[in-house]
Amino acid sequence: MNTVSERIRTLMSAHPVVDAHSDYAVELYRREQDGAADALAREHLPALREGMVSMEVLTVAGDFDIDTLKLWDHRLMRGIIDATRRQIDAHEEFHLVRSAADIAEAARRSGTHFMLALEGIRGVEDLAALRLLYAADVRSVILTHNERNLAADGCGEPLPGGLSKFGRAVVREMESLHMVLDLVHLSDPSFWDAVDHYTLPPVVSHSNARALCDHRRNLTDEQIREVGRRDGVIGLNFLAMFIDADRGKATADRLADHAVHIASLAGPQALALGPDYADYYMDAMERWLERDRLPADLMAFIPGAETVRTLPVFIQALADRGFTDEELIGIIGGNILRLYSTVLSTSA
Ligand SMILES: [Zn+2]
Repeated sequence: MNTVSERIRTLMSAHPVVDAHSDYAVELYRREQDGAADALAREHLPALREGMVSMEVLTVAGDFDIDTLKLWDHRLMRGIIDATRRQIDAHEEFHLVRSAADIAEAARRSGTHFMLALEGIRGVEDLAALRLLYAADVRSVILTHNERNLAADGCGEPLPGGLSKFGRAVVREMESLHMVLDLVHLSDPSFWDAVDHYTLPPVVSHSNARALCDHRRNLTDEQIREVGRRDGVIGLNFLAMFIDADRGKATADRLADHAVHIASLAGPQALALGPDYADYYMDAMERWLERDRLPADLMAFIPGAETVRTLPVFIQALADRGFTDEELIGIIGGNILRLYSTVLSTSA
């Protein structure tokens, strides 16, 4: 059932495969504190190779905590960015994405590429901080996690507003720096406010369709159409809770329903992969679920494609639903690389 055909293996090995959202940079830092200075090469590279993934977008700071680590703390942000950059620099196969020229390299699948991203800007109190993070090679920004911060309201706020004056200034500054705006996690008013102040194509890196799974983290049909109109891209999220209200029904085929739905509204060129994998810190996730008395299976992923090693299982599910080779090449990475190339086009 979970076998991946030769057609899909050939396609994925010949074309770039981009995971548009992953959170393990904090683990690289944590492992360094424990004396393992090369977890990226020793632990993640074999997994990426097995899953045929050639580029990842890594969260280096955010508005959430993992155990006692608060990812908006300045010292921690510096530590994570520093550890991640050093581990990328240390291996000749690894490349840090800074520019459209780097994206062209990633499109050729020349090694393994990484882009640094923020998942919430609670630690960014002014535009100078944003510009310094740009100077540290951060290229993609989610304005907030599920809550409210200085810039924007997230989708978890009970009476959400949109962007603050500061949030609007951040979005305009991102545009002038040619940074990628990621609309994931925003409240609906923040989503619409953000697209009003940014003219480049936006990303929604790890969300599905609300029409198929009525969750605040998913996108309405109107939002999906807007992303499509702006040549934006939506990364499909592999977490069961964002796929089906009945998590037991959240299969790879059910996620393919979201792909078909999004393609019907915005076109197949608006699709990408944002699996949101968390297996590398599942122990911390389990402690969090227990602490907050949440269901133990809340962080379940689609069966058969639970880690980056088995990501191709979902591509097979898309192929089984009739997506053509050309469409699949776009979904696995071509579409989001096109967007990154457009947005980063004039950056250094
Ligand atoms: Zn997220």
